[in-house]
Amino acid sequence: MAAFTSLTDRLSQAFKHLRSKGKLSESDIDGTIREIRRALLDADVSLDVVRSFTSRIRERALGAEVSQALNPAQQVVSIVNEELTKILGAGVDRPLNFAKKPPTVIMLAGLQGAGKTTLAGKLGYWLRDTGHTPLLVAADLQRPNAVTQLQVVGARAEVPVFAPEPGVQAESSDVVEPGKATGDPVKVARDSIAFAQDKLYDTVIIDTAGRLGVDQELMQQAQNIRNAVNPNEILFVIDAMIGQDAVQTAKAFDEGVDFTGVVLSKLDGDARGGAALSVASVTGKPILFASTGEGLKDFEVFHPDRMASRILD
Ligand code: GDP
Repeated sequence: MAAFTSLTDRLSQAFKHLRSKGKLSESDIDGTIREIRRALLDADVSLDVVRSFTSRIRERALGAEVSQALNPAQQVVSIVNEELTKILGAGVDRPLNFAKKPPTVIMLAGLQGAGKTTLAGKLGYWLRDTGHTPLLVAADLQRPNAVTQLQVVGARAEVPVFAPEPGVQAESSDVVEPGKATGDPVKVARDSIAFAQDKLYDTVIIDTAGRLGVDQELMQQAQNIRNAVNPNEILFVIDAMIGQDAVQTAKAFDEGVDFTGVVLSKLDGDARGGAALSVASVTGKPILFASTGEGLKDFEVFHPDRMASRILD
């Protein structure tokens, strides 16, 4: 995965130095841990996460499981793999939380440009492909072109869009011209649920407004939408390329909307993606999906163990 190419290379270098040795001394282990630490920090993994990660590895590597192993270097790699899996949210490898009584309501939150609208299309496409009947909802009325953009995405994914615009399945009274979206996003979201119930859509995906930075007004709006529609999932979409800001942003959204899951987007980018790796660990919320490009199919269900193995490949 492009966002982790450099991290993967660096970690594999660190393990290479170990492989030439038989029994490992404490200084061999410390040397490797220093390399791992530097690789993670250079990849933008947050300092707190790196600290606790490397101290757990050191403790385990100095313990019996390595000194008594037939192949100590391999044992260290396997410890790193297990600990990395934990950081990525081991134990909470779960699919979407579907409602017992449809529609399932999924709300998307995140900064502007994080990839929410693109994700709405991907999720819609994926759900349709797995036998669901999704409906996309344009509740981002902040950005002039957001409604139109969701309609384009919906058309591409062949998933209908509920939008506050004349003629497009809008049964909302918030009828506005495209490009002049000034309606009430809370009402649009609420109306979309009634619409889905009436027309038998089983999943409603609500795209919400983002800002360039976290701000109170944005958070309040997201909270109001959440309170109005009581989502089964609130997915926080985070651009893997935003670097160290990822942790602060994730914390702010966690406090603001108490999201239920994380989507890492732009993992195809070649910037350092490590900050995104801290998000599950810092918020304690599971990563549910990964987005790896602009196309509808550049999307996958996230499995912590598989991602750890790919990073350590
Ligand atoms: P929003 O403001 O959160 O709705 O973000 P958008 O969905 O509009 O995405 C912002 C930009 O990022 C668009 O140009 C998308 O095509 C692009 N984008 C979204 N997801 C990905 C991804 O996984 N990989 C890449 N390379 N680009 C993406």
